Amino acid sequence: MKKSLFSFTLPALEKEMESLGHKPYRARQIYQWLYVKNEYDISKMSDLSKDFREFLNENYSVDLPKIIKEQRAKDGTIKLLLEYEDHGKVEAVLMRYDYGNVICVSSQIGCNMGCAFCASGLLKKERNLTSSEMVGEVLIMNRLLREECERVSHVVVMGTGEPFDNYDNVLNFVHIINDQKGLSIGARHITVSTCGLVPGIIKYGDEGIQINLAISLHAPNDEIRKKIMPIASAYPLDKLMEAVKIYEEKAGRRVTFEYIMLKGINDSLSCADQLSDLIRGTLAYVNLIPYNPVKEKPYERSPQSTTKAFADRLMKRGINCTIRKEFGTDIDAACGQLRVKYGGKEK
Ligand code: SF4
Repeated sequence: MKKSLFSFTLPALEKEMESLGHKPYRARQIYQWLYVKNEYDISKMSDLSKDFREFLNENYSVDLPKIIKEQRAKDGTIKLLLEYEDHGKVEAVLMRYDYGNVICVSSQIGCNMGCAFCASGLLKKERNLTSSEMVGEVLIMNRLLREECERVSHVVVMGTGEPFDNYDNVLNFVHIINDQKGLSIGARHITVSTCGLVPGIIKYGDEGIQINLAISLHAPNDEIRKKIMPIASAYPLDKLMEAVKIYEEKAGRRVTFEYIMLKGINDSLSCADQLSDLIRGTLAYVNLIPYNPVKEKPYERSPQSTTKAFADRLMKRGINCTIRKEFGTDIDAACGQLRVKYGGKEK
């Protein structure tokens, strides 16, 4: 089976070239074609010798996922259903913020974490995505954005899947997109979001990278969290908060706590008080997320006034927080909905 050229960091590709008897600068030439000149046809990489291009074509692939479905919202949000060679499908979503174009990348096909409110978890994990497949999500979105002379400037690994359940591929992916000779997406413009896999959080703190970490908290106590997030049984909040402190100490960076506002479940002022007590003493801040209802799930969105009161209470108690801007409300807004609608892997 051919290796994907998108699966290599630049140092890894230099080593690969050297191990095959080629000069390491060949790797830099290939990187330029792929990530700066956006050329995915090896035979057109004109500053490589014909023999070398033939060698590359015989041994390496540069495949991108196919777009199966594309939705565009009035606010510029683009939602893609992508399909890989084995017919596995994922979603990738582009959101337009004032500060840039943010792609939400999936890291697995399906997800086994079973969060009760999530459409992505309706289809169980089929497999991990490789780092080259995640790079493909970014490149395919960039291809669409080039029509508007734009590009992806920020990446959040927050789509379908649990990134720390696919740790090595996700880390390799972020190193590839971060490389200054490639896509050059700044480390501080990349965020990895976990539902709370404690060993992954601690390991991530050891990586010595400036990439952001977000944690899907969604509840202020174990009782509520266990009802909506099965991961809470394996890693209760005391263990999770201990890991956050270890991460903050090692990495010297603060985490973002994501908190989906679910009507009557986790949105009371008492929940806000418990939440502020829980995270006080960390560097963290809270991102409150208006819930996008999923037809197959019993949960409803908290009213805007409740979310506002919750945010005010956190601020009053000294916790920094934001309410996430909404995107794509006129398309299938909830993460994973498109894939559920158009089925999982075709048999
Ligand atoms: S919220 Fe994330 S971790 Fe939880 S089931 Fe959905 S995709 Fe998986």
